[in-house]
Formats: sequence, structure tokens, C-alpha cells
Amino acid sequence: ESKARSRGSFTLFVQEMDARYLERQRLKADLRAAVDQHAITVVYQPMFTPDGRGLVCCEALARWHYPEKGPIAPNIFIQIAEEMGIVTEITQQVLRRACFDCCTWPDTIGVSVNLSVHDLRQGDLVASVESILAETGLSAKRLHLEVTESSLIEELSAARAVLDRLRALGITISIDDFGTGFSSLSYLDTLPVDVVKIDRSFVRNIGQDGRRLKLLRGIVSLTRGLDIGIVVEGVETREQLSLIKKHNCADLIQGYVFSMPIAAHTITALAEEAEVNGIAAHAGVA
Ligand code: C2E
Ligand code: MG
Ligand code: MG
Ligand code: MG
Repeated sequence: ESKARSRGSFTLFVQEMDARYLERQRLKADLRAAVDQHAITVVYQPMFTPDGRGLVCCEALARWHYPEKGPIAPNIFIQIAEEMGIVTEITQQVLRRACFDCCTWPDTIGVSVNLSVHDLRQGDLVASVESILAETGLSAKRLHLEVTESSLIEELSAARAVLDRLRALGITISIDDFGTGFSSLSYLDTLPVDVVKIDRSFVRNIGQDGRRLKLLRGIVSLTRGLDIGIVVEGVETREQLSLIKKHNCADLIQGYVFSMPIAAHTITALAEEAEVNGIAAHAGVA
């Protein structure tokens, strides 16, 4: 009897695997179609000076609204696109959209686009960035490119060469999710990098846990010595914001406390409002 039962549950297991496999295949086909139809959209999350008055740059974040299922998180579909070998097409589309949108904003505002590790490996990244800048007319000075710390480590030698060339064009290079990739900090000194974006995991408990705040301050003071800009990501509450200000932990703040990701056409009004009144810090999100 127990044999039959285990055989039964094995069959169930196989059926579940089949269902999941089919689901994944379907997702891949639909993602392929979405990319072909340019159905990936872009929203922008502003980075502000800590006083909430200067909207300095906006991060472009890809969105895929799946017809029946609703939005699918970029962490998920970017990973699928990487597996399928089509992430570079998404990068190109987001980059082009972001450069066009940035041209509609005041010229004090930059735009920051995420790169995948696959983009670093692909040979003509620099050429395609150059041609998109030319096509859209955006000054390279307003473009920032974000590379995750883990992809830098994975592709250190390729990355160094590519980032050098992008920087020579006048583009700002940021290390994203800084602190999560287990890199030795000694890399920082030798890499062609202008900005680090400290991962939101270093912010989460700074109000409750004094050790977390010390850790954040430690990362900040190491980085300050290298003349690198500091963005702190994922700042959600007023309490986190005031601790970060008090201890001078950030040049720029990106997080729900100031703004969620929003549509391109709302950026200019938000920047003007912030300059006049200071952006209101929200009390925090659930
Ligand atoms: P990321 O580049 O680190 O982007 C920041 C993520 O944190 C965004 O999630 C943003 O919505 C979220 N976030 C911002 N402020 C807060 C906050 O205060 N609290 C919390 N809990 N979250 C906050 P999103 O848009 O879901 O993107 C997730 C990741 O997907 C991004 O992380 C990035 O790695 C990737 N991604 C998004 N768009 C693209 C893209 O166009 N290309 C590539 N290669 N990756 C992308
Ligand atoms: Mg990013
Ligand atoms: Mg990040
Ligand atoms: Mg992240």
C-alpha cells in the first residue's frame, strides 16, 4: 500500500513538474512576443538630495504587464530573459526609451539604466549606447548606467574595459546592490566607478538595530575616502531618512519615503514641486 501511495505521489510530482515546465515555456513565449512588440514599459524612480529639494536623477525600471496575470516583477522576467538570451534586447529598448524620456525633463535631471551581466559580455554594448545617445540627442553627461556588484565580480576583466570606454564617453557608472556581492572593498579603488548604490538590505533595520546602523555607517565611511558618490536605496520611513541625514550617509536618497517609481510625464512637475516646497517625506509603507 505504501508503495502504491509513493508511486501515486511520484506521479503527482511529475505532473506538477510538467505543469510548472509548461507554465515556464508559456512565459518564455509570451516574453519573446512582448519584446518583439515593444510591450515592455518603463517607469522612473527619482533620486533626491537628502533634504528632498533636488530631484537629481531617475532610475529607469522595466515593467511587463502580462495580459491575464497582471504585472510580473522585473526580477523574474529579467532572469528569464537572461536565460533566453534576449535580455540585451530589453536593455536596448529600455535605454532608448529612457534617453528619449530624459530629453523631455529639465536638463539638470539625469537618467539611470540597469545593465545585465549579459550586456557586459556582449561585444557591442559601447557602440549601441553611443548610437542611442546620437539618435535621441541626450548628452552622455545625463546618462548613468548601473551594474550590479555581483555581475562586476563575475565579469571583472570584461567589465573593466567596457566601463572604461563608457566612462570616456562621459557616462556615469554606478555599482548597484552594493554590499550584497561579497566583493572585497579593495576592488572599489581600482574599478572605473563613480557612484555606489547601497543595497536596501543595509537600511531595513537601522532604526531598530544599532549594529545595522553601524554597518551602514562603516560602508559609507570606507566609500567616502575614495571620492565616490553614495546613493542609499530602499529608504522607506521618516525614521530611516532622519538617521541617514543625521549621520551623513547619503548624497542621494532613492526610496518610497520620497517617491515610488512613476510615469515619465510626471517627473518635471515633481521636480518643480520639490524645488519649491521640498518633497514631503511619507511616513512609511506597509
Ligand atoms: P534595482 O536596480 O536595485 O532597483 C531598485 C528596486 O527597488 C526597484 O524594484 C524599486 O522599485 C525597488 N524600491 C525602490 N525603493 C524602494 C523602497 O523604499 N522599498 C522597497 N521595498 N523597494 C524599493 P523593481 O522595479 O521591482 O526592480 C527590481 C530589480 O529588477 C531591479 O533592482 C533591477 O535589478 C531589475 N531591473 C528592473 N528593470 C531592469 C532593466 O531594465 N534591466 C535590468 N537588467 N534589470 C532591471
Ligand atoms: Mg538599479
Ligand atoms: Mg539596487
Ligand atoms: Mg536591487
